Amino acid sequence: MNQVQKEAKIYIVGAGVSGLIAAQNLENYGYSPIILEASDRAGGRIKTDVIADYQLDHGFQVLLDAYPMAQKYLDYDSLRLQSLQSGALIFNGDSSTKFGNPLKDFKFLFSTLFSSLGTLTDKWKIFQLNQALKSKRVDVIFNKDELSTRQYLRRYGFSDTIIKNFFQPFFSGIFLEPNLQTSSRMFEFVYKMFGTGQAVIPEAGMEAIPKQLQKNLKKTTFHFDTKVKEVNNQRILLENGEELATDFTIVASDPSQLVPRYSSTLEWKACDTLYFTTPIDPIGSPIIGLNANEDSLINNVFFPTSLETATRGKGALLSVTIVKIHELNEAKLIKQIQEELNEYFFISETTFLKRYKITKALPKLNDVKYERDEGESLINERMAIAGDTHLNGSLNAAMISGETAAKIAHRATSASLLTFS
Ligand SMILES: Cc1cc2nc3c(=O)[nH]c(=O)nc-3n(C[C@H](O)[C@H](O)[C@H](O)COP(=O)(O)OP(=O)(O)OC[C@H]3O[C@@H](n4cnc5c(N)ncnc54)[C@H](O)[C@@H]3O)c2cc1C
Repeated sequence: MNQVQKEAKIYIVGAGVSGLIAAQNLENYGYSPIILEASDRAGGRIKTDVIADYQLDHGFQVLLDAYPMAQKYLDYDSLRLQSLQSGALIFNGDSSTKFGNPLKDFKFLFSTLFSSLGTLTDKWKIFQLNQALKSKRVDVIFNKDELSTRQYLRRYGFSDTIIKNFFQPFFSGIFLEPNLQTSSRMFEFVYKMFGTGQAVIPEAGMEAIPKQLQKNLKKTTFHFDTKVKEVNNQRILLENGEELATDFTIVASDPSQLVPRYSSTLEWKACDTLYFTTPIDPIGSPIIGLNANEDSLINNVFFPTSLETATRGKGALLSVTIVKIHELNEAKLIKQIQEELNEYFFISETTFLKRYKITKALPKLNDVKYERDEGESLINERMAIAGDTHLNGSLNAAMISGETAAKIAHRATSASLLTFS
């Protein structure tokens, strides 16, 4: 790389995972990128607060350790990953049933086989789908025609009972929407990742992931609390009125908000996560609790303190996820959730700790992609897009998009057509 290229001013808007991966790749090419981030720290949608000594992730999230990009970019050992059990505890109002993959975890064998959550054929099909997707390549998955996940499950022959009891609450918690409208491509990808690996959370909470990525950066400059208003070809306009000259910009945040005349607007899926403390953890193991009662607000629950955590309060920490749209104010929401915890999950002594109302949790996308050609990520000759919004709502996608955007920036600065300031 020549000196002119090396000194090219490459800005990245957004210090989420996609922006951090873009920066890492640019450093590897020899550049010293500059990240402009609106909030006070890196991580984007992956943040962890410590409150009353408990670790509170901004929304219940997990890393699927089979993600190819996570394997490439993360040092799993130093994250001290803690595994969730590969199944779920399903609450149907009267009782709870452990339901999972007995091939991964033998203790699920009897409860799964003899549960009334679905028919024997359903259970056989779950296993069969698992096997089929293990050997199906991701490019094949993402090139198939898209159906909604619900249509896909019906066509695969699953009964309405197993869809209601298991698939609906499990995948609603992942897709953050209650109706299984999300693309079947995403369903197959996520199911494959669950089948080949585990759901894990770093010991210090999910923010340990972007913290590790940030720590790896040696030549990147960060400007926090720096909100970008607009990105033009060679100018970045900040909210505070300042203007910056740029040779190339990677927009690692919603481009429809920043790039004038950007062709499409983005819709988002929202969710609520409420944290409570309880004197004890009645579930007692790191397993996701699903609510099979369709007329309630709670979708899923998890006790983060059932895992090893870097810091913890005196009791147990409970996270509750709501994906249904509701109009309740916070006081009414907390009251209703406490009643539902009592009625459906048999958890009575709950003290409210904090609510995360996440209005932009996952992008609502049609035509979800695993990756895109470089041409599709280029806005113009001096600007590229990164972010899960460009592919599919996952950490894996955020990482791929950052890698592709850095490749484009490198190619653009190498092109003799461009001159740099
Ligand atoms: C509740 C929840 C649960 C999830 N569960 C999972 C899960 O289990 N597994 C999984 O793989 N993924 C999950 N995800 C998705 C995952 O978190 C995202 O795919 C990923 O973090 C997206 O990274 P990103 O860099 O694309 O975007 P973001 O993390 O959104 O980063 C964008 C950054 O740009 C900054 N920014 C925005 N506008 C501006 C501006 N004008 N100027 C400067 N900076 C700006 C933002 O502050 C932010 O830091 C979940 C997300 C949520 C919210």
